[in-house]
Amino acid sequence: MRALVKTEAGPGLSLLDVPEPVPGINDVLIKVRRTGICGTDLHIESWDPWAARTINPPLIVGHEFVGEVVEVGSNVTDLHPGDIVSGEGHVICGRCRHCRAGRWHLCANSIGLGVGRDGAFAEYVVLPVTNVWHHWPGIDEEVAAIFDPFGNAVHTALSFPVLGEDVLVSGAGPIGLMAVAVARHAGARYIVVSEPNEYRRTLAERMGATVVVDPRERDLADVQADLHMVEGFDVAMEMSGNPAALRSAIANMAHGGSVAILGIPTAEISLDVNEIVFKMLTLRGIYGREMYETWYKMTVMLQSGLDITPAITHRFSFRDHAAAFAVARSGDSGKVIMDWTA
Ligand code: NAD
Ligand code: ZN
Repeated sequence: MRALVKTEAGPGLSLLDVPEPVPGINDVLIKVRRTGICGTDLHIESWDPWAARTINPPLIVGHEFVGEVVEVGSNVTDLHPGDIVSGEGHVICGRCRHCRAGRWHLCANSIGLGVGRDGAFAEYVVLPVTNVWHHWPGIDEEVAAIFDPFGNAVHTALSFPVLGEDVLVSGAGPIGLMAVAVARHAGARYIVVSEPNEYRRTLAERMGATVVVDPRERDLADVQADLHMVEGFDVAMEMSGNPAALRSAIANMAHGGSVAILGIPTAEISLDVNEIVFKMLTLRGIYGREMYETWYKMTVMLQSGLDITPAITHRFSFRDHAAAFAVARSGDSGKVIMDWTA
């Protein structure tokens, strides 16, 4: 089969012919149809310090996908050839305290698809059946392909109640963009999006932002005044990984506000802890998705009218992977999809 492979330590990815993976008794073999490019894939492609520390080549990369079941292991009874599925990219250990308590998303030993085991940028991928999400018939395949980052957005946006609340989203990358739509769907009053990239600010407006702001040009306090907000944001979603964005969010929170932190900074961030203490803020780190409550919520919100399709901006054949990665890296894009059927 064709697969995008990190063949050795260093930049680049190669489209190679490799053996098809063989499913074990608890596994599902899936023919990949469409995949999404994630920031993680860009880190692995460029071989940044995180990738150099984390990745053991050779490795097939990629973890955002939708595909069709072609074969199931002998223990698998509830999935069948032809089923349209996506995969939860965190493969848990099943044995640690949290796993045994059913809190799978808190597993301390999870292994990432396309990070710690061969991934989905290939014509076929294998996953344990417990990682497979069966979609309803007729789901938009591009939306299905990005259930993994959509799940990051939903997990973050639903970490704190947003009904009637004033919400700040820092960073309108693909995940921030989807979080805007989720917060709107979940009943937020104002959604202010802070994002330096103009292309993404425009997309954020389409996703349902009340106001978009370039943080280099305008202070969030000004925006609050324009909106006649009196005490600050009730909920903030940090989706940029940028130190200034986190500080600015904390500075603009209302007393008792909640900050959900999904963005991954590249270095330590210093914060004014006095502000956290005296405003009695709650800060919460968000990693991955809740298995499988987030997946359930994604499904039912789509069925009740949530639309995340404006966040998908570019499509390529897998053969044009270099162009697909370039546009994802440029920042002038939302989600970039690769088609493995053409
Ligand atoms: P992305 O890098 O495409 O988006 C980040 C956005 O933040 C960019 O559009 C950038 O222009 C913007 N930004 C930069 N400086 C800013 C500032 N000062 N204020 C506001 N915005 C600023 O990433 P993405 O794919 O949308 O992911 C969002 C973040 O979440 C990234 O940091 C990513 O590494 C992280 N992530 C975390 C998890 C998790 O499980 N915790 C999973 C996936 C991604
Ligand atoms: Zn575990």
